[in-house]
Amino acid sequence: MLDADFFRRWMAVTAASVDREAEQLTELDSAIGDADHGSNLQRGFRAVAAALEKEEPATPGAVLTLAGRQLISTVGGASGPLYGTLLRRTGKALGEAAEVSVAQLAAALGSGVEGVKQLGGAVVGDKTMIDALEPAVAALEGGFAAARAAAEQGAEATTPLQARKGRASYLGERSIGHQDPGATSSALLIAALEAAASP
Ligand code: ADP
Ligand code: MG
Ligand code: MG
Repeated sequence: MLDADFFRRWMAVTAASVDREAEQLTELDSAIGDADHGSNLQRGFRAVAAALEKEEPATPGAVLTLAGRQLISTVGGASGPLYGTLLRRTGKALGEAAEVSVAQLAAALGSGVEGVKQLGGAVVGDKTMIDALEPAVAALEGGFAAARAAAEQGAEATTPLQARKGRASYLGERSIGHQDPGATSSALLIAALEAAASP
């Protein structure tokens, strides 16, 4: 079972990976966006890590709703409200439980992804974070390593696609041949589950 400590580690590991990969994420965003994805998420997840240390939320659901609120209030770009919605919806779906199973996390993350799709209107194949998140959720019942592999594969599969949502879509065919920054950061978020499970 996964307790609040696990969810705090998940957010802390994500914050550390975003710090480590920030330059790379911004470079991907400079090819098909406005070169701010790394710094956007760095600001957001640093705020998440700070808020979690200060407030010490007691349940998995409370950890994720707090994290989501921080992302919405600190990230100016499209990714802030989208990732914020993902984590808030997932947290809400986990309810008040002190511990949750991987299957419950998979179901909750599924409703989080639905929330992102409603907010942003993207489906798989539009070259967005959904391309990494949706296959990861589908694979999650098979374990964290399977989810990570699915997310990484989904992110890599965005390279030959033409963007149909977000800033990259303004480029039309010129968005082809570059990996989507948001799908890449989503793969970091999912990979952090595995690291959080074996601290
Ligand atoms: P901005 O584009 O506002 O500068 P970021 O650079 O932080 O924001 O985030 C860009 C990422 O957000 C994209 O790579 C894409 O994965 C994701 N994104 C943008 N629009 C959407 C959308 N409508 N639905 C899902 N994801 C989106
Ligand atoms: Mg950007
Ligand atoms: Mg921007």
